[in-house]
Amino acid sequence: MQRIVVLGGGESGCGSAVLARVKGFDVFLSDRGSIAPKYRELLEKWDIPYEEGRHTAGKILSADKVVKSPGIPDKAPMVKAVRERGIPVISEIEFAGAYTSARTICITGSNGKTTTTTLTYEILRQAGVNVGLAGNIGESFALAVATGNYDWYVIELSSFQLDGCYDFRADIGVLMNITPDHLDRYDYELQNYVDSKFRILRNQRPEDRFIYCADDPLTLGNLPKHPLGMQTLPFSVKTCDGCAAMLADGVIRAEVAGKRVEIPVAELKIKGTHNTYNAMAASLAALSAGVGPDAICRTLRAFEGVEHRLEKCGEIDGVTYVNDSKATNVDSVWYALESMTRPVVWIAGGTDKGNDYARLYELAEAKVKTLVCMGVDNGKLLKAFDGRIGKIVDTHSLDEAMAAARRNAGTGDVVLLSPACASFDLFKNYEDRGRQFKEWVAAAQR
Ligand code: ADP
Repeated sequence: MQRIVVLGGGESGCGSAVLARVKGFDVFLSDRGSIAPKYRELLEKWDIPYEEGRHTAGKILSADKVVKSPGIPDKAPMVKAVRERGIPVISEIEFAGAYTSARTICITGSNGKTTTTTLTYEILRQAGVNVGLAGNIGESFALAVATGNYDWYVIELSSFQLDGCYDFRADIGVLMNITPDHLDRYDYELQNYVDSKFRILRNQRPEDRFIYCADDPLTLGNLPKHPLGMQTLPFSVKTCDGCAAMLADGVIRAEVAGKRVEIPVAELKIKGTHNTYNAMAASLAALSAGVGPDAICRTLRAFEGVEHRLEKCGEIDGVTYVNDSKATNVDSVWYALESMTRPVVWIAGGTDKGNDYARLYELAEAKVKTLVCMGVDNGKLLKAFDGRIGKIVDTHSLDEAMAAARRNAGTGDVVLLSPACASFDLFKNYEDRGRQFKEWVAAAQR
């Protein structure tokens, strides 16, 4: 019996272990840290042997194959040891992909993955397709394959999940955009990160579809390096010859195989250029999956976006509060600021990921009246915007930041939490940061 060892006991690792058990492998899971109670319960329910708080070499290096969770870097000593033994290391997506004949829409990119994945899934679901939502969002693909029975999957894929894919093939691959992110995991080489994103089109066949943004310089610059035997469906908000989706006179037009979606952007509830891109990508993916234009437009009109992404969460004294806690890199903040139509009190800061703030200067100078820096160490942010914004306030907790934002906002302004940074200095994660922001707003409204 083949032995599968799973490294990492989170959503993706435990899903892989369950799938391995269902498929009759000898399976063992190892997590160097601690495993959350809900995952321990899952492992116990499926009678899967595991260890936590350590990696026991003897139990791991006897594997025929190792499934590595996306959070574990390639540089981790145990991963290196496994590779040195010549044991194949694959991702959960690669593992699960081998056990389903369902068709897949796989969505990757630096920004917009969750929004586009959720929107695409909603379009298919509401059109009556037997569809599952999986990947970097919600349930792991492996667990869905082990326990579900779907005709289609819409899967959000991070670069880390793509890295361990070799034979996996997306029927419909979507690359939203590529801007610098996670460079610490790619030897600070942007090209390594770009190459990782392009793995989305590996193994695609002539009947498959590759949907990409024709306005994205890094995507366009790297296209010639890849054989494009599949059908390509570029989208753009500019005038664009040969694009499958574009924006003309405020109307989104997306067409695949003679079926056309036409919808004015003003009818979408999700706002901003980035959301126009997301709506275009979702429309092209849904058309490619055979969903009719009317069903697509119905969901496009109704979709309100995903929590923590430019989420309006209340008004205090005529000031609107917007939670964009998921904006953990510079590019997502660029789109947030670009979509603002009123003066902004901008709350930013946290754990810096090697950010270059220059891309934000023009928009910040035009739209931001006060910058509230919120982090343990705001030095870089303070220096970057010094002299560019009317007022900058240095704060070191959410309470301090919210009080400063409220003091500095007047009727008609927007207080925007769009940090451009990870949250780990002051919060558990970006959800915790967004929730605390919303709780503060709710409490102030009482
Ligand atoms: P991801 O899953 O790739 O992180 P999300 O949909 O969760 O993407 O959005 C993350 C952040 O990026 C949010 O702040 C959101 O407002 C912004 N965003 C969403 N779509 C795009 C896009 N197409 N381009 C740039 N930024 C985007």
